[in-house]
Amino acid sequence: MSEETKILDRVLVIAAHPDDPEFGCGGTIAKWSAAGKDVRYLLLTSGDKGSKDRNLRPEQLAAKREAEQRAAAAELGVKEVIFLRHPDGLLENSLGLRRELAAYIRRLKPHIVAAIDPWRHYQLHPDHRAAGIAAIDAVWSAREWNIFPEQLEGDEDPWRVSEVYFFWTDNPDHHEDVTDFVDARIASLACHVSQVGEDREKLASRIRERTAKTGEEAGMAHAESFKLIKF
Ligand SMILES: [Zn+2]
Repeated sequence: MSEETKILDRVLVIAAHPDDPEFGCGGTIAKWSAAGKDVRYLLLTSGDKGSKDRNLRPEQLAAKREAEQRAAAAELGVKEVIFLRHPDGLLENSLGLRRELAAYIRRLKPHIVAAIDPWRHYQLHPDHRAAGIAAIDAVWSAREWNIFPEQLEGDEDPWRVSEVYFFWTDNPDHHEDVTDFVDARIASLACHVSQVGEDREKLASRIRERTAKTGEEAGMAHAESFKLIKF
């Protein structure tokens, strides 16, 4: 089978916090699931610092946000959500994290990885920068025979991801038409009550406005944009 016709049916979304996948590309995730792709999430933190409520302890918030994330993922047809539970706000693109992510990539064998674009200008959240760099470094490492060779069992080949979709990018070169999936994106984001509150109408109009604006760039009613890297 040629590269062009190869079916890219396994997707791994690597993100820093619960709600990043849905805010980043929830419509596209729903579209991929509807097309029969196997979509899984790897969440590097559980968002345990994401509240201004001083009475909520980080571990309570983590449990709440993990439950919200599982519900949101279910709305989009995601098969599995894996939490690595690194500390929120303190994520580092360490060699250890790269090794951990490379091991997941080699085990789950995704054809497509979706991740935060770490090269967005003035990406101020340190976790977003670290998660994006860690993801692409792990994609690169997973391809190489001699990097983390202890992860390869017997005569197992290293895993070569075919495409990386960077969301939250300043350099979009690919648009996904999500006109039929905006409602799914809104429904999934509404699950993140601790972050978006209870006002569903306000959330819906904010999301519709955003996807419509992105759609204008590409002549689509509603779209999500990416920097797409093909290997
Ligand atoms: Zn985030």
